[in-house]
Amino acid sequence: MTKTEQKSLLLKRNLVLEAREEPTPEDESRAITWMPRGMELLDWLGIYSQFHKKGVFRGLHQFENQHGKLLEWSFDQLESPYQYSLQLPQHDTEVIFEDAARKTGMIEIRRGHKVIEATQTKDNVIVKVQNKKGLYEISAPWGVGCDGAKSIIKSRLAIEKTWRDYGINSAVADFEMDCHLSIDISNIVLDPQRPYGFFYFVPGRW
Ligand SMILES: Cc1cc2nc3c(=O)[nH]c(=O)nc-3n(C[C@H](O)[C@H](O)[C@H](O)COP(=O)(O)OP(=O)(O)OC[C@H]3O[C@@H](n4cnc5c(N)ncnc54)[C@H](O)[C@@H]3O)c2cc1C
Repeated sequence: MTKTEQKSLLLKRNLVLEAREEPTPEDESRAITWMPRGMELLDWLGIYSQFHKKGVFRGLHQFENQHGKLLEWSFDQLESPYQYSLQLPQHDTEVIFEDAARKTGMIEIRRGHKVIEATQTKDNVIVKVQNKKGLYEISAPWGVGCDGAKSIIKSRLAIEKTWRDYGINSAVADFEMDCHLSIDISNIVLDPQRPYGFFYFVPGRW
């Protein structure tokens, strides 16, 4: 750790502190579905074409039960230029966003830098950060906490968390499997015992 890093720094531009060294792994689904309004936002940001190039389009929800098909719900009536949802593993979304953010020249992104403490004064937010080299402190007029479900920022600033536990009757999982299902349709089975659905995200994974 250099002397400069040891000092409390007053930031003059935007800084992202990210605990992980790498984006979400390629074979993990997480946030895979982009809806039309989200795609309009991507278009506004000027990065939609990159999502279009890599994504898989879904234009139909299909519901069935043990006796057969119940209904099809197409997106073609939507008042949007995007009459489909777009599937893309979260890995790709993170990579595209990170690259676009760096290209603006307005943002510094530090990977492998974990916030371990956060406090605030009348004028500043002060965060303590840990990386491979050690600890350092940063002070800035504004801080935005977007550190996920187990947020340190929220807990340190005593911001209440709204948490809903769905119990053991529901699960989200990535399945490795070969199947006959079409990748551009979401398949939802309204089994009275236990409803389930399959959503494609990368070859051989649902
Ligand atoms: C299996 C699974 C499937 C999902 N499928 C979908 C889906 O299809 N569609 C959908 O919309 N959503 C889906 N989600 C939910 C979606 O992934 C989350 O809602 C979304 O990622 C939340 O975003 P976030 O930015 O709040 O938190 P996160 O994505 O968790 O991001 C928080 C970031 O902060 C970093 N961080 C955490 N603590 C610190 C710290 N102290 N210092 C520095 N950095 C820190 C983390 O490393 C992480 O990169 C799914 C989630 C899971 C687990």
